[in-house]
Amino acid sequence: MINIVFLGPPGAGKGTQSNKIEHEFNIVQISTGDILRNAVKTGSELGKLAKKYMDEGKLVPDDVIIGIVKARLQQDDCKNGFILDGFPRTIAQAEALDDMLKNDLNIELTHIIALEVPDELILERLTGRRSCSKCGAAYHLKYNPPKVDNICDICGSNLVQRDDDKEETINKRLKVYHEQTEQLKTYYSNSGKYYEIDGTKHPDEVYEKIKSILTK
Ligand code: ADP
Ligand code: ADP
Ligand code: ZN
Repeated sequence: MINIVFLGPPGAGKGTQSNKIEHEFNIVQISTGDILRNAVKTGSELGKLAKKYMDEGKLVPDDVIIGIVKARLQQDDCKNGFILDGFPRTIAQAEALDDMLKNDLNIELTHIIALEVPDELILERLTGRRSCSKCGAAYHLKYNPPKVDNICDICGSNLVQRDDDKEETINKRLKVYHEQTEQLKTYYSNSGKYYEIDGTKHPDEVYEKIKSILTK
């Protein structure tokens, strides 16, 4: 069983790599960002609450996110393994995750993978990102364009630019990453399951590195 946590700044390629792993290793990708964006789209109470934080580039409160992940991890499709993409993002979330894995699910993380991309590259990645309005797949105008302009290769839906992928919000998200999330690298670094990968390389090269870690 493979249970992965992906760390890395916004735009590091967590979603892109998670998608590839999901299909090849047949485990589920759990993106807290996707869950929240779906809630915003359907207009649920969760969506209304989350939108305020997301639009400002801030983190949604820990207790809300922890509740979502706890419920999600208990669903049957997680039994083969999972990829946590975008969670945990704070020490409190990491501690809550440890607690639920141990006391509720009786399983362990197998890999914590940190994708390293310097701030200078993030702005170009995120301003050029286009996301599928239906399935959430990520494209890039320059680095990973869809086969047909503005149409998702996978499901044929329209591509959109995320509300929070504009320069001002990107800078705020990067600040939040450095202040609240980056320290998770230290939190996991002595676990014996922690791997750092250069995320600046071509997506295929990044994936090969990840694959070699997952299959060794
Ligand atoms: P990216 O992939 O660009 O890093 P995400 O899709 O993971 O962005 O997250 C988008 C937004 O959703 C975040 O800026 C934050 O407001 C909210 N969010 C997602 N995951 C979490 C989390 N684990 N804790 C708090 N807020 C979160
Ligand atoms: P995250 O989930 O970490 O926020 P994404 O996977 O959504 O990041 O990638 C952010 C943007 O950068 C997307 O437009 C994606 O197509 C592009 N991208 C992802 N990986 C790479 C890479 N290795 N090189 C260049 N661009 C990339
Ligand atoms: Zn799609």
